[in-house]
Amino acid sequence: MPEGDTVWNTARVLHRALAGATLTGSDFRVPQLATTDLTGWTVRESVSRGKHLLLRLTAPDGDRRTLHSHLRMDGAWRAYAPGERWTARPAHLIRVVLRSPGAVAVGYHLHELALVPAAEEESLVGHLGPDLLGPDWDPDEAVRRLAAQPEATVADALLDQRNLAGVGNLYKCEVLFLRGVSPWTPVRDVPDLPGTVALAQRLLAANRGRWTQSTTGSLHHGATSYVYGRRAQPCRRCGTAIRKAELGERVTYWCPVCQPGPQPAS
Ligand SMILES: [Zn+2]
Repeated sequence: MPEGDTVWNTARVLHRALAGATLTGSDFRVPQLATTDLTGWTVRESVSRGKHLLLRLTAPDGDRRTLHSHLRMDGAWRAYAPGERWTARPAHLIRVVLRSPGAVAVGYHLHELALVPAAEEESLVGHLGPDLLGPDWDPDEAVRRLAAQPEATVADALLDQRNLAGVGNLYKCEVLFLRGVSPWTPVRDVPDLPGTVALAQRLLAANRGRWTQSTTGSLHHGATSYVYGRRAQPCRRCGTAIRKAELGERVTYWCPVCQPGPQPAS
């Protein structure tokens, strides 16, 4: 599940592969960029903002632009050595290929792919709340934004990237289990909002630098989460069957005993 930590890792992979390099070729396989050619452009850096990826480029004439992409549920970037086979995903999912002397970056099933003037980056990511893994992470501002929607369910509020940027469905479910809070709890009734925000940041930060997302401390298959993806399996704390239900546009997983508070009709 691409959440803030996965996107942060992806930005680092792209940075290590391409930063400082002058591109020797590009191949965009999306209609809106089909005629774009980045040959001769230099890659300055690759950064993440929440779940958005920003590849900052300089054209041969000095023009600065940013290649924006979003992974959503299924997108990925991979870096390959020149000549290496591209094996991560089927070829028909390729949306862009960027070639440099030392590496080839391949973007699979990317969303919102756009090349914008550097000055317009804000129009793409300016709406985001504080970035949990950003250099300017501001927990007080994240708490302030969450608290400004007291009637929203805490589950929806944590997923709203305008409040804080980087939490996806997995971390949402896991944070609320670890805090003992029902996903349907209105924000105003969450006992310790700063503690909840701080825990979300710690969980994402702990998974930087690896691709396995674990909230339990275990990297063993089937042992990496408390509730996410564990419908009908016993709660790791109390043994009660973990439940799964629709909440807003996403499914949510929770333990009805460890997470008291509002529960959906079953
Ligand atoms: Zn439980």
